[in-house]
Amino acid sequence: MKKEILLTGDRPTGKLHIGHYIGSLKNRVELQDQYNSFIMIADQQALTDNARNPEKIRNNLNEVALDYLSVGIDPSKVNIFVQSQIPELHELTMHYLNIVTLSRLKRNPTVKNEIKEKNFNESLPIGFLIYPVSQAADITAFKATVVPVGEDQIPMIEQTKEIVRSFNSIYKRDVLIEPNVLLPEKGLGRLPGIDGKAKMSKSLDNAIYLSDSPDIIKKKVMSMYTDPNHIRVEDPGNVENNTVFTYLDAFCSDKLQLEEMKEHYRKGGLGDVKVKKYLNDILQAELEPIRNKRNYYEKHLDFVFEVLKKEV
Ligand code: ATP
Ligand code: MG
Repeated sequence: MKKEILLTGDRPTGKLHIGHYIGSLKNRVELQDQYNSFIMIADQQALTDNARNPEKIRNNLNEVALDYLSVGIDPSKVNIFVQSQIPELHELTMHYLNIVTLSRLKRNPTVKNEIKEKNFNESLPIGFLIYPVSQAADITAFKATVVPVGEDQIPMIEQTKEIVRSFNSIYKRDVLIEPNVLLPEKGLGRLPGIDGKAKMSKSLDNAIYLSDSPDIIKKKVMSMYTDPNHIRVEDPGNVENNTVFTYLDAFCSDKLQLEEMKEHYRKGGLGDVKVKKYLNDILQAELEPIRNKRNYYEKHLDFVFEVLKKEV
């Protein structure tokens, strides 16, 4: 039976972090046998808010590829490619731009939020505003039906679906295929930053990277945002909106133990340091094999370049 096509990707704006891992990378590894997968390093999209800093994007191309290999994305099963190397994607974007309105683009909640976060004001690059259209081109060019992404990408897939419907209806052909978004398990679609901000993001400097050393991981965990009203150990604490517990929900497999800890924290008598140490142990165990694999590929960069050069 012919496999369905899966497409997803990442902007090479920095190394990948545990938010990517839980929100998207883990899923991709699990799905790589089931689907005909295309994974794109979206360098063109990354330039939409980094036009004056192209070296950053160039340097992070390899870093993202290294992260892919380190989490177990297997280039013999998955087509890994670089967005800018496929000119047809840009051509298709131009066609789609004629069937999308400015007001529709301005309504996209994720883009709206990012514009605010980045303080663009009047200097908003047009390329940034239209990046959901370029994502529609990426997805439809490969006829992808499955797009595994984090929650922030839901509006992009909605935009893609609309473009597919408009295009097929205007040109009276069923050439384009509507994709479906595949979200990670409930609650894992948007890991907050260590500062407690709504989203861990490479651009917000609030991430634990897959490549961080054990010392850095520990430092970041110990500095994490918790319940600001949980001042003394004996104070009752809040586990909701408490980043340390959100991470434990995402990474701790011993759910029974976790429930007991939450109960204890709520009642009072469980200190932040203890909870953070528990989280640190879990993250260290999860990230060590990933980091080791990365170290291996860092010493075999020729292999990484070959993967990026392969035609898709
Ligand atoms: P940037 O800040 O440059 O936009 P980013 O950290 O948002 O970087 P992207 O490359 O934009 O990362 O996103 C790649 C994929 O990772 C998308 O599918 C996105 O939904 C997912 N993702 C990004 N951040 C998180 C997060 N904090 N939690 C879960 N999934 C995430
Ligand atoms: Mg992003």
